[in-house]
Amino acid sequence: MANNRYNKKDLERFRKEIQNRVDKLNGTMDGIRDDLNINSKGNASLAQDSVYSVHMADAGTDSYEREKGFHLMNRETDYINFLNLALQRIESGDFGVCAVCGEKIPEERMMEVPNATKCVSCKEGEKLNLPKS
Ligand SMILES: [Zn+2]
Repeated sequence: MANNRYNKKDLERFRKEIQNRVDKLNGTMDGIRDDLNINSKGNASLAQDSVYSVHMADAGTDSYEREKGFHLMNRETDYINFLNLALQRIESGDFGVCAVCGEKIPEERMMEVPNATKCVSCKEGEKLNLPKS
């Protein structure tokens, strides 16, 4: 067998680490939601519209804080989605394998960027976009 895949034990370790981060982020999100007084169904825009226009029309600082909170929440949601993708890749067995050259992506990189699908050299090559001579 080619040694370009992580074994089950390694994958389990990754899975735990990623799940940890997801849990932590979900905790952060709950905190932001509390700050913003959004119900847990995540109906943010609705809450924003109704509360905002009626009660916060001239509360400039509050609306700025809210705005910031929503941006933060969007960013965190994106990151959670990325992490969930990484978890799916662990399930499907694609995790840690470069989609371009098929080599194993080093563990340090996978811990840093769990949703990485390319090894560093393939990614760098892409960025440089060198014309083939
Ligand atoms: Zn590669």
